[in-house]
Parts: sequence; C-alpha cells; structure tokens
Amino acid sequence: MKRVAILGGGPAGAFAAEQLASAGLEVLLFDEKLAWEKPCGGGLTYKAYSQYPFLINNATPKRFVTETVLAAPKVGEVSLKLDDPLLIYSRLDLNRMLLERAERAGAQLEKTRVSEMT
Ligand SMILES: Cc1cc2nc3c(=O)[nH]c(=O)nc-3n(C[C@H](O)[C@H](O)[C@H](O)COP(=O)(O)OP(=O)(O)OC[C@H]3O[C@@H](n4cnc5c(N)ncnc54)[C@H](O)[C@@H]3O)c2cc1C
Repeated sequence: MKRVAILGGGPAGAFAAEQLASAGLEVLLFDEKLAWEKPCGGGLTYKAYSQYPFLINNATPKRFVTETVLAAPKVGEVSLKLDDPLLIYSRLDLNRMLLERAERAGAQLEKTRVSEMT
C-alpha cells in the first residue's frame, strides 16, 4: 500500500496520518473543518501523555490540573490531589497541533467534506 486516504482529521486521523507519512507513505487527509473547537474536550490523562510524550513536550498552550473536587447534592464534596496531573488543552489547539505534526511528516491536508468513496 503506497497511497492512503484518511477521512477525518480528529485525534485518530491526525495521528494515523503522522505515523503513516513518517513511514514514507503518501497520505491525504480529508476533514470538513480540520482543527475546530468542538465540545469534546482536550483533557489528557497521565496514561496518554506518558505513552505519547509529544502530547506534553510541546509549545502548545495547556493547563495542568493537580487538584479536583467531586461534589454531590446533600452529600458534600471531597477534594482530591492528583499525583499525576491532568493536562487540559483547548480542543482547537490540541487538534491543530496533531494536524501540524501530520503535515510536517509529509501528509497532505485537505479541508473538504467527503460525500462518497469509489
Ligand atoms: C462532550 C465530550 C467531551 C470529551 N472530552 C474528552 C476529553 O477531555 N479527553 C479525551 O481524551 N476525550 C474526550 N472525549 C472523547 C474524544 O472527543 C473522542 O474520543 C475523540 O474525539 C475521537 O477522535 P476521532 O479522531 O476518532 O474522532 P473525531 O474527533 O470525532 O474526528 C472526526 C473528524 O472527522 C471529520 N468528519 C466527519 N465526517 C466527515 C466528512 N463526511 N467529511 C470530512 N470530514 C468529516 C470531523 O470534522 C472530525 O474532525 C470527549 C467526547 C465528548 C463527546
């Protein structure tokens, strides 16, 4: 397989594009919006960023969450200190960073809606 089309440039598509382009394949990625600020958050767990260190070692703006509060009506609340912080990105920034990695690896990005395949 020499040429690959990837439909969708969310985290899955963008990461696949980066990996395949890095391996020398010709990759075209199609997404109707490319990076966008969708409601699906940019929260990343320790498990994710320790397995893929590029998710933490980059210049993209992010926040570290080291303390969290769980609350329920009539029960009260409890504060938890996290040994391994959660990382929070804006979803737009996270997606853009993943797509830029794909592009740097040689993938071609196209902003278009895919309506059929042949
Ligand atoms: C409310 C909410 C909050 C979430 N918060 C988190 C979180 O904090 N941390 C976390 O890790 N996960 C979170 N998730 C889960 C996370 O968003 C998904 O697991 C992740 O987005 C899946 O990635 P994906 O690349 O498979 O799909 P998607 O991110 O859905 O990407 C699919 C892409 O395909 C494109 N597309 C779709 N149809 C077409 C078409 N016909 N033509 C062209 N392009 C098309 C879309 O524009 C989109 O960019 C959350 C999910 C929801 C719903």
